[in-house]
Amino acid sequence: MKIKKGDTVEVISGNDRGVRGTVNAALPKENRVVVAGVHIIKKHQRRTGDVRTQFGIIEREAPIHVSNVALVCPHCDRPTRVGYDVAADGTKARMCRKCKEIID
Ligand SMILES: [Zn+2]
Repeated sequence: MKIKKGDTVEVISGNDRGVRGTVNAALPKENRVVVAGVHIIKKHQRRTGDVRTQFGIIEREAPIHVSNVALVCPHCDRPTRVGYDVAADGTKARMCRKCKEIID
């Protein structure tokens, strides 16, 4: 995945379009990310008998598909597509397609 935990992303579709947030979790198998403050769902959690489990209505972020977010480049502060820059030794680094700066 081109987006990692800790990245700042901007939502590019859906109800939260235009909202920026930090990636709290990346789920590469599902191609989804959890973004702070984005796609909050109310979950009705029943009492489970386990005192550690919170119950009632819990608000929390639900994962959204990576295609719905764009990485915000820390150099030019714009949502961008991610390219790869391959160094002479073969290592790949993420690169902003707009300003060509290395992101990692
Ligand atoms: Zn940039």
